[in-house]
Amino acid sequence: MTAALLDGRLLAARIEENLRAEVSTFGEMLGRRPRLAVVLVGDLAASGSYVASKRRAAERVGIDSLLVERHGLVETNELVELVDGLARDEQGPVDGILVQLPLPPRVDTVAVLDAVPPDRDVDGFHPVNAGLLSQGRPRFIPCTAAGVQRMLIDAGIETAGRHAVVIGRSDIVGRPLALLLSGRGAGGDATVTICHSRSADLAEHARRADILVSAVGQPGLVTADMVKPGAAVIDVGINRVASASGGSRLVGDVDFDAVREVAGWITPVPGGVGPLTVAMLLSNTLLAAELRLR
Ligand code: NAD
Repeated sequence: MTAALLDGRLLAARIEENLRAEVSTFGEMLGRRPRLAVVLVGDLAASGSYVASKRRAAERVGIDSLLVERHGLVETNELVELVDGLARDEQGPVDGILVQLPLPPRVDTVAVLDAVPPDRDVDGFHPVNAGLLSQGRPRFIPCTAAGVQRMLIDAGIETAGRHAVVIGRSDIVGRPLALLLSGRGAGGDATVTICHSRSADLAEHARRADILVSAVGQPGLVTADMVKPGAAVIDVGINRVASASGGSRLVGDVDFDAVREVAGWITPVPGGVGPLTVAMLLSNTLLAAELRLR
């Protein structure tokens, strides 16, 4: 059996197409285009390229973006003030505020993220939004978790009554995804097991999964013997490894070639979950613009 490929690029393109029309309608109601502020701190090449791809995607659907960069030594209070200023629309009206992670180690990331007002928190990291999600009345859902659920729904992969195993318990991916999958309604109603770095018998848990999600950041973590035949395998991990040609390439957490012979569905890396994450960010930015109209 060879797994069906879950093509994130195709689905993201369809989502963007719908968003473009909605953004245009809301632009007319706002009297301006929705606007996303992106805060980029430090010099990590990967962060710079994620920010560039988010801004390109925003442009494609008609959302303006404002890039605010800080390089060199930056203190927590400076970044908190920066976010406060954006929230006061000091640099023009801003509907959504995104702080690209990771922040430099000396910065208190939680303090900076908490400074983003909950109604502009398009990443869904503020405790108010995390609380709303955990109570089953989500507003801004963390983009990667929302993207994974959207992908399952779009592919018609049944979650109700199925066993989902999520490897990874971060506030960004694993935990919100476990909440979504165990919540009520489409793409939910699953029985969920969360595994993490201290889990014993990871392989045994994984083998019981109808839906297996890996959000760890460790190449080769999920091997074919850990996958139930026919399961949906969603690879959130992004890892840069040396390539045979001497350069480098991106891989996920899943041993793709071997697992695709066992699984029923599988996401590639790149081109799987990544594009969905960006599409969900755009969707959250439109929602933030809508909230300002209410
Ligand atoms: P994180 O470092 O915050 O969390 C990693 C999680 O993995 C932790 O909860 C930890 O307990 C768990 N873990 C570590 N080693 C483990 C092991 N051996 N067995 C089981 N669990 C283990 O990372 P994150 O921010 O959640 O991101 C996870 C991965 O997903 C990274 O590779 C990141 O680059 C990627 N990511 C991808 C997207 C996307 O759009 N595709 C978005 C966000 C993150």
